[in-house]
Amino acid sequence: MQFLITGAAGFLGSALANRLANEGQSVRGLDDLSTGDPNVLSPDIHFTRGDINDRPKLWTLLQGVDCVYHLAARVLVPESVLYPREYNQVNVGGTVTLMEAMRDVGVRRVVFISSGAIYGDQETQPLREDATPRPRSPYAVSKLAAEYYVRTIGQLWGIETVCLRVFNAYGPGQHMPPVHAPVIPAFLRQASLNGTLIVHGEGTQTRDYVYVDDVVNAMAAAATAPDVDQHIINVGTGQEVSIRELVRLALEVTGGDPEVVYNPRNDRGPAHMCADLTLARQKLGYQPQTLLEEGLRKTLELDLRLR
Ligand code: NAD
Repeated sequence: MQFLITGAAGFLGSALANRLANEGQSVRGLDDLSTGDPNVLSPDIHFTRGDINDRPKLWTLLQGVDCVYHLAARVLVPESVLYPREYNQVNVGGTVTLMEAMRDVGVRRVVFISSGAIYGDQETQPLREDATPRPRSPYAVSKLAAEYYVRTIGQLWGIETVCLRVFNAYGPGQHMPPVHAPVIPAFLRQASLNGTLIVHGEGTQTRDYVYVDDVVNAMAAAATAPDVDQHIINVGTGQEVSIRELVRLALEVTGGDPEVVYNPRNDRGPAHMCADLTLARQKLGYQPQTLLEEGLRKTLELDLRLR
């Protein structure tokens, strides 16, 4: 098959691109390199630097493509609170531009990488895909709006659409910005260096941490799975882990002795997040393989920056 991956130089995009290329698939990648790094991509991938809102570039890159994976996005929740317009432009506007270009060229399927963040606070866990979304940040709103655009434009123009709501993904190669770094690489790094682990709130909030290889398995399956058109499917592990437990695991796998600081005043996000995987199992044959402790050890071993 011929694939186009947007956001191909990012954490999840590059893992997917390399996997597909290793399997002998033909892969094109697009990324503006605002945070991504093209050096991590296999030389078999045809990489183009460009913006997701560049329609002429998309028209060219989409020629002959069977399936598009759409991952290009701004991804930091706290940053989206400061710059909602930018998040709207890239995450929503970019998705609409891509869908329009796919319509013009005639592509069969798009797999959109959405986020568990759209659920926000919910009464019941695990979270099923039919829960009413309660986004709490411009990032979450942008992913939800993008889901609606993908499904609506897809339905209007006969493009098959699959939206994967990925929960907290982690693993080697995760982008680590100087501020607002995702919790797992931040904890592993600080614990390894005997630095400081900052816990927001009481540390009782739970998240569903899913290893990158498992996310890639789900994404790979979504390109060819039958009967998935218009579906929204969770991708996580079905296990919720508290931040306190994550601190314990970070200390265990690194053997470090960092200072752990609690910051009770900071917004700690939704209290609980755990994916219901019934649909993922049914539709994608998805079963997460990597337990958190094993995933943390692999991340530490493979990610040079964290050692
Ligand atoms: P990432 O930042 O590593 O990847 C995003 C990529 O998009 C980057 O390489 C960046 O350079 C590129 N990009 C940003 N703006 C662009 C633009 N205007 N044009 C072209 N490319 C642009 O983040 P990631 O964690 O790999 O996330 C990939 C996708 O998965 C995103 O859509 C994100 O919302 C989604 N997602 C990630 C997680 C997670 O835990 N990592 C969870 C849920 C959903």
